[in-house]
Amino acid sequence: MTTTPTKEGSAAVQARRVLVLNSGSSSVKYQLLDMNNRSRLAIGLVERIGEETSRLLHTPLTGGDAETRERTGRIPDHAAALKEAAEELAADGLGLDSPELAAIGHRVVHGGLRFTRPTVITDEVLTEIERLVPVAPLHNPANITGIRTAQALRPDLPQVAVFDTAFHTTMPEHAARYAIDVETADAHRIRRYGFHGTSHAYVSRKAAELLGRTPEEVNVIVLHLGNGASASAVAAGRCVETSMGLTPLEGLVMGTRSGDIDPAVTFHLKRVAGMSTDEIDVLLNKKSGLLGLCGDNDMREIRRRIDDGDERAALAFDIYVHRLKKYIGAYSAVLGRVDAVVFTAGVGENSAPVREAAIAGLEELGLVVDAGLNAVRSGEPRLISPNYARVAVAVVPTDEELEIADQTFALVGQAESAGQEVPVGEVDN
Ligand code: AMP
Repeated sequence: MTTTPTKEGSAAVQARRVLVLNSGSSSVKYQLLDMNNRSRLAIGLVERIGEETSRLLHTPLTGGDAETRERTGRIPDHAAALKEAAEELAADGLGLDSPELAAIGHRVVHGGLRFTRPTVITDEVLTEIERLVPVAPLHNPANITGIRTAQALRPDLPQVAVFDTAFHTTMPEHAARYAIDVETADAHRIRRYGFHGTSHAYVSRKAAELLGRTPEEVNVIVLHLGNGASASAVAAGRCVETSMGLTPLEGLVMGTRSGDIDPAVTFHLKRVAGMSTDEIDVLLNKKSGLLGLCGDNDMREIRRRIDDGDERAALAFDIYVHRLKKYIGAYSAVLGRVDAVVFTAGVGENSAPVREAAIAGLEELGLVVDAGLNAVRSGEPRLISPNYARVAVAVVPTDEELEIADQTFALVGQAESAGQEVPVGEVDN
């Protein structure tokens, strides 16, 4: 048998893999996906970057049993983290130097008002993401580091930014503006941007699918309840309201964040309690929410404590659920007609007691949960309301990485099929 030699780099190899990177301040999560069937080839996480106790967890998913490999020991920075991840991928025959890799998709937290859709990262785009650092000081710098690191690794590849804020840019002005002096707000770009947009977009679309309708036909309330938590009201596929604001601090009670609070609390903490701005920032973002209320931010542990009769844990749970109910009511009013309330993310997908308590007493809004359906554990989208209910209540597992991969691949594919060259960013070495 003879084989016809192909020129190196010829179109013989179809590039259909996407690497998704989610870079945090001290961590990088990555997934390599095969877009032929949208399956995962490998997933991994590097955490505690810069500390002595750095750790890389890598799981190849191409073989039979998914076995996680672990590397421990100091990983000094994001560049080293990505290099080690690349070595692990290469050991599985999935090297990032492969011509099969089509693009790298990056989760970018803040895209301001400019980025309303996924965007190929050019130098100009990167500069704009940098300009948004003052409104996302905790997140955008890490995302930028991830992008630069990936660009250095594969300068020839298109890199795509998928923004957490993009889905919310359809919010009407009356929902997005704070009622403060307009000149001050505009001078400092103070408005409600919303976050977790990739998840809200994916879950609201999936919910429509579950109902056998198109996204344009349904109004949905999405409750993304993870360690961070946010709600959104999605009318006919477009976000019209969301609970996070200028930063991811506003809205629901979260694992460690307070959510909604009278802004005068901050003046009080400064003037009366003598706390600095940074101390207040840490208090509200890292030491509040469920953690501040009862000393635990993991809903599993809180439920265990409640079962043991712990009153602080029970009060924390009640405060968490009360806030959720307020948002369900408010967003029902905003939407006018609601077709589904959808739970997602770590708590939303797994905690039957939270779902039950959040919907309890909302029969007048058409909302009922079936106890049997609610108790079912499954990784699939599913209804937990009885057939007769006027409004569907559903659990839809979120998949932000798949959504980023889809959007990245679609963007690169579109540009290529239109015969345009996909720009690649220049690298500062
Ligand atoms: P996420 O940010 O989406 O990864 O969600 C993380 C949070 O989900 C954890 O802090 C827990 O509070 C919660 N969680 C994860 N698994 C469960 C579970 N089986 N039951 C209740 N809560 C869970």
